[in-house]
Amino acid sequence: MEKRGKGTRVVIIGTGFVGSSYAYALLNQGVVDELVLVDLNKEKAEGDAMDLNHGMPFGSPMRIWAGTYQDCSEADLVVITAGANQGPGETRLDLIEKNAKIFKNIVASVMDSGFNGIFLVATNPVDILSYATWKFSGLPMERVIGSGTILDTARFRFLLGQYFDVDSRNVHAYIMGEHGDTELPVWSHADIGGKPILTYVKEDNHVEMNELDTIFTNVRDAAYHIIERKGATYYGIAMGLVRLTKAILRNENSVLTISTLLKGKYGLDDVYIGVPAIVNRQGIREVLELNLSEEEHKKLHHSASVLKQAMKPVHDIV
Ligand code: NAD
Repeated sequence: MEKRGKGTRVVIIGTGFVGSSYAYALLNQGVVDELVLVDLNKEKAEGDAMDLNHGMPFGSPMRIWAGTYQDCSEADLVVITAGANQGPGETRLDLIEKNAKIFKNIVASVMDSGFNGIFLVATNPVDILSYATWKFSGLPMERVIGSGTILDTARFRFLLGQYFDVDSRNVHAYIMGEHGDTELPVWSHADIGGKPILTYVKEDNHVEMNELDTIFTNVRDAAYHIIERKGATYYGIAMGLVRLTKAILRNENSVLTISTLLKGKYGLDDVYIGVPAIVNRQGIREVLELNLSEEEHKKLHHSASVLKQAMKPVHDIV
């Protein structure tokens, strides 16, 4: 085990497409002081550490090595990107049993190290595996965060930015619910620089609701479209994970759509699901409860009931 230096340490469990892209983005953006790579395939983690280290003269100084679960004892953040990914035509929920069993071992190994930081989960189905991580770890829910709909929200903002020909950073719009087939667009709170998108629909002849609906469908099905073309998706989520890492380690109090445990908000209980929340050094500071339209509220409840139903195999493993 490497002794902790000064500064922040992130451990990535699973250096496949998503984990290694996240590592590369962390190095490029100079976010952490120490980065540890752990994978079942030790040689893959070693190769990634060597390759990333060779980019160091072009980036910011940091320490990167292929490590073990022992290195989690000193970690601020453990990011889990390990496990099976979707094959063509497979839904995220198809991965539950395989990945829940893998998670039981991973989370036990991390906790055995004496880890006392924050978990960030990206493996799919992310809402269910975040719930499993919370249960397996015994940590407070604030410190077990799923990437949730952070990527879906980014896809949504990008496509709306293209449609309105506006910088996607000035598009404020959320995707909530399952990171998967039952997610929903929150049109009632979507705006461009403060002007509601639903006002554009009413006032501007060039903005059609059916075209906006198609944008949402493309967001929801984006992973299928990318997987058909190149087998996996990883750059977008990697940048989303970096965004979350900064919000946590730099105590930013940023509003991001992540997966967290609901305890009454939106009338939901005992389910990890994608909602906007304030994220800081403590993890989840607060879930934002938006005043959803009746239809959005119904869709969110439907999404939660699908997740709860799908969670049954996890309850058996816990
Ligand atoms: P991948 O197959 O490229 O990588 C998975 C890695 O996990 C492999 O290197 C494998 O050796 C490792 N692994 C497997 N079991 C392990 C264990 N027990 N301990 C340690 N390492 C282990 O897959 P990927 O494309 O990187 O995808 C990883 C996960 O991320 C998938 O579940 C995928 O669906 C998910 N994903 C999530 C989002 C999101 O928005 N949350 C986006 C894209 C992908």
